[in-house]
Amino acid sequence: GDQELSSLRGRDTHTTDERKITLSANVEFKHEFPQVEESGAEGIGLFRTEFYLLSGGEIPDEQRQYEVYAEAAKCTSPHQAIIRTLDAGGDKLPAEPLPEPEPNPFLGWRGIRVSLARRGMFKEQLRAILRASAHGRIGVMFPLVSGIGELIAAKSALHECMDELDRERIPYDPGIEIGVMIEVPSAAIMADELAKEVDFFSIGTNDLIQYTIAVDRVNPHVAGLYKPTNPAVIRLIKRTVEAANANGIWTGVCGEMASDLNLIPLLIGLGVDELSVGTHQLPKIKKAIRSLSHAACSVMADEALACRFSSEVLELSVDLAKRSY
Ligand code: PEP
Ligand code: MG
Repeated sequence: GDQELSSLRGRDTHTTDERKITLSANVEFKHEFPQVEESGAEGIGLFRTEFYLLSGGEIPDEQRQYEVYAEAAKCTSPHQAIIRTLDAGGDKLPAEPLPEPEPNPFLGWRGIRVSLARRGMFKEQLRAILRASAHGRIGVMFPLVSGIGELIAAKSALHECMDELDRERIPYDPGIEIGVMIEVPSAAIMADELAKEVDFFSIGTNDLIQYTIAVDRVNPHVAGLYKPTNPAVIRLIKRTVEAANANGIWTGVCGEMASDLNLIPLLIGLGVDELSVGTHQLPKIKKAIRSLSHAACSVMADEALACRFSSEVLELSVDLAKRSY
């Protein structure tokens, strides 16, 4: 029951055969920071800053952003707080009023594309994140990257901010972890190249599923096609994990798939190192992971990778979930 779940708060997250999984929390607003620790999470795996940045009329300035990001770092200390740069557009608010509606918002003006085109705004956010890194363990990651060029451009903006802060003698953590969201199929396919540029991957399954199967994640008419267990999706996840392992970096999953109890055995079996989920779901996910054998998950995932149908993949994962919890 609830009591059993809350007793897990201070417990570590590992499988029955001692495979350590970092279980962290997704947050959107500052008022959620205290819930991270209370839920038993090891830090913040995804701070979706667009909700905070775009919910008032005007984007908060560097100083105000810095205070919020520093607060995140303090609340999660000694664990990490991973701050994702603005992911405006798509199904979320645009960063600025658009002159005309976009015909295909999910394929248009969103994510890192907006940040790279609005360099001043992007650098204010990056400076705020860097300054916050003086107060705890901060990670920074970039959304909707579709290839190496965008990642290099985003990193160069970050390095420019570091140089500025050096000149201004403003402290930051020069070892700040840099990550990239893997949520566009082209990024998953090029994961071996992207891995050489970053410290971690965070797989955004919400978008990765949508873009891989070409099925709008918010359109009920095509919801039947939206399957996290689609064999193409799980092959892309596998490919991403392998590229990360080959380059000595870690892989997390921060999409909704990570909080589906039926799919935890599959994700663990595919070899991910971290899961980031809502604080409300977190205790039951921790309990599930602690009941699973990593070895059994791996055997099951290999079988799943040979399947042709989403339904077969789902059945394999559900079956192991049922036998374990
Ligand atoms: C995702 O795409 O899975 C993700 C975590 O990002 P968002 O849902 O904010 O697009
Ligand atoms: Mg996304």
